Amino acid sequence: MAKIKIDEKKCIGCSLCSELCPKSFELRGDKAVVKKPNVDKTTCEKEAADSCPVDAIIIS
Ligand code: SF4
Repeated sequence: MAKIKIDEKKCIGCSLCSELCPKSFELRGDKAVVKKPNVDKTTCEKEAADSCPVDAIIIS
């Protein structure tokens, strides 16, 4: 089980996470939001977190 969060203050709305992992992230206005904060297993969420230019995605 993993928790996914986005630091809204850091997010610059580049949409990379929603392109890499549309099942978990979507852009709402100029910020990304997490669609499902709790997932059994991280797959593309990890890739999105690694790719986020401002390190706004937190997986714990
Ligand atoms: S990749 Fe990072 S900066 Fe870009 S929209 Fe997602 S959370 Fe925001």
